[in-house]
Amino acid sequence: MKRILITGGAGFIGSHLCERLLREGNEVICLDNFFTGNKQNIVHLMDNPYFELIRHDLTNPFMIEVDQIYNFACPASPVHYQYNPIKTIKTSVMGAINMLGLAKRIKARILQASTSEVYGDPEVHPQPETYWGNVNPLGDRSCYDEGKRCAETLFMDYHLQNNVDAKIIRIFNTYGPNMNPNDGRVVSNFIVQALKGEDITIFGDGKQTRSFQYVDDLVEGTIRMMNTDDFMGPVNLGNQNEFTMLQLAENILEIVGSKSKLVFKPLPQDDPRQRQPDISLAKAKLDGWEAKITLEEGLKKTITYFDSII
Ligand code: NAD
Ligand code: UDP
Repeated sequence: MKRILITGGAGFIGSHLCERLLREGNEVICLDNFFTGNKQNIVHLMDNPYFELIRHDLTNPFMIEVDQIYNFACPASPVHYQYNPIKTIKTSVMGAINMLGLAKRIKARILQASTSEVYGDPEVHPQPETYWGNVNPLGDRSCYDEGKRCAETLFMDYHLQNNVDAKIIRIFNTYGPNMNPNDGRVVSNFIVQALKGEDITIFGDGKQTRSFQYVDDLVEGTIRMMNTDDFMGPVNLGNQNEFTMLQLAENILEIVGSKSKLVFKPLPQDDPRQRQPDISLAKAKLDGWEAKITLEEGLKKTITYFDSII
């Protein structure tokens, strides 16, 4: 049994990590300021004596004794991270400094939830970890992209300078139950719109691509990475199957059996044209890990979830 701190534990991915790590017999401390997270995501864990919930803002220092830290606190949807860009970059950068300082002091292993956004609008396809990216430092997405890039730099420097046992995963678009219906990301938007019979909002021509990973695959890869010795990453965790937003909309409409119409809206600034992970490194280092759940299978589970809550 390990004592594990999960920052952002009441959010979409964090809540799945809390559940899985508790199920595996660990003691879990969930830290969250509830900016985009929700108590509903973790309420079913509250009676578990090995679960603890702490309301705290990660831009302030936090002290605790744990064996491992999963650093997931940060709004992840463009709508939410652009709401208060300064707070977003503070959460990534000061949050990383606070958690790395803690890890150094208590000698805990720490894993950073980085993102495919560090590749920006990539000119290399698919993206390997060696690609440095194509990021606008001054655009609408910069608070998130540059905050996460700086956090990666901090993880590497604390590792090199202070010997912190640090790890970095780069997460590609992930979806599943516990996403906030108002999250603003494409999968939750399209599902909620399809279920309510509202117009499906396609940004741009809908030909831009993303590779969608079901949350259980990500959680498996994340835990494998945390428990792998002698490899700090960064490592890509994503599904290799690439879809256009038009294909995603068609899939969702078909599964829901919805008659919603497609409407086209302006493409947001710096919206990446294409994105697909190269997962050779994850396969080699994480015991053959790869995303296994198909888009259709994952969408069905996610649609069932949204149908039950909206
Ligand atoms: P989410 O918004 O559901 O979860 C983020 C959580 O962090 C929320 O519970 C929020 O309340 C909390 N939080 C935000 N700022 C905080 C602060 N200052 N102090 C304490 N808690 C704070 O998003 P998610 O999709 O679950 O993403 C979780 C992590 O994974 C994020 O770091 C995100 O950047 C990363 N990630 C997610 C994806 C994805 O596709 N879902 C892709 C790449 C990276
Ligand atoms: N998108 C869309 N309609 C929406 C929300 C998003 O067409 O209602 C598009 C968005 O412009 C982007 C893609 O879907 O090209 C993925 O957007 P999301 O915000 O989910 O993730 P990210 O852009 O961060 O990968």
